[in-house]
Amino acid sequence: MKPLEQLVRRNIWGLAPYSSARDEYSGKEAHVFLDANENPYNAPYNRYPDPLQRELKRLLSQVKGVPEDMLFLGNGSDEAIDLAYRVFCQPGVDNVVAIAPSYGMYQVCADVNDVEYRTVLLDDRFQFSADQLLAACDNHTKLIWLCSPNNPTGNSLNRDEMLRVVEQFEGIVIVDEAYIDFAQQQSMRQELPTHPNLIVMQTMSKAWGGAAIRLGMAFASADIVAIYNKVKYPYNINLLTQQQAIEMLKDPFEVDKWVKTLLEERTRLMSAFSQLPVCEHVYRTDANFFLARMTDAQAIYDYLVDRGIIVRNRTRVQLCRNCLRITIGTRTENTELLAALRQY
Ligand SMILES: *Cc1c(COP(=O)(O)O)cnc(C)c1O
Repeated sequence: MKPLEQLVRRNIWGLAPYSSARDEYSGKEAHVFLDANENPYNAPYNRYPDPLQRELKRLLSQVKGVPEDMLFLGNGSDEAIDLAYRVFCQPGVDNVVAIAPSYGMYQVCADVNDVEYRTVLLDDRFQFSADQLLAACDNHTKLIWLCSPNNPTGNSLNRDEMLRVVEQFEGIVIVDEAYIDFAQQQSMRQELPTHPNLIVMQTMSKAWGGAAIRLGMAFASADIVAIYNKVKYPYNINLLTQQQAIEMLKDPFEVDKWVKTLLEERTRLMSAFSQLPVCEHVYRTDANFFLARMTDAQAIYDYLVDRGIIVRNRTRVQLCRNCLRITIGTRTENTELLAALRQY
């Protein structure tokens, strides 16, 4: 890995962050707070939330087995994706390399930040080669994006191959694990202590059932987390989100139950799909969705919309011609989808 100072944009490396009232005084003992121009009425919503989300991070640190100073929290993973560009990539100069197809926000944020987005196509089993990815890099490549399990293909990427990229690339490798709670494969989190150029992203939006509260996390070296904290908006995680996430983390067994049920339903739905005359292929998956190649994805998508059932049409995505992406719902919802498709 290159020294962090060479990877981070110069203006960010030298940035003096905004110092909020809650940064300057964060002790607990005081009882009169006249420092932040808050309204003294309407508790608890009158007070600014903790800019570093300490209570929430204490709990998350226990659940995830990652030290608190290696934890960054964002307004969804999307904030952590955008921050990676703003921290590491000089607009108009630097570039990033990603697998394709993958999650659309990597490219959108690259475009917003005027950063060249290079892609390397997955093979017909939706896997990648470290050598090919590294061959697409040059001196101005700051980031490599990996997503495992990958969206929209559903499969986990080969773990040894991902490690090879992390070990051989001089810049930052980001592994997006939004769907890791559904996967057989182990998280890359364990690799963080020995790989300071690795960033692992997860989210409360999928297995945790918390898409509405917007809470994404990035696990990374304490040095990288400190830089992210310097660049983020001071109060990026609002009080309601912090409170709700704390409640959710107190009962992680509920999540285990949801995951178990969803995986059972996934098995049922996928085997039913493979019997449908309109379905040509069901791809293996490690996530709470699967990709199905249909006889005519657009026509079937439109037909389902007419019946009030929305799936994701991925037919215009590379390697996904005529594919629908199906999220696993409740047993009732899945059954309704199957019934509709049998009548097509
Ligand atoms: C759904 C998803 C996310 C989640 O994003 P949030 O902003 O945390 O809701 C992140 N990455 C991938 C690949 C996803 O599919």
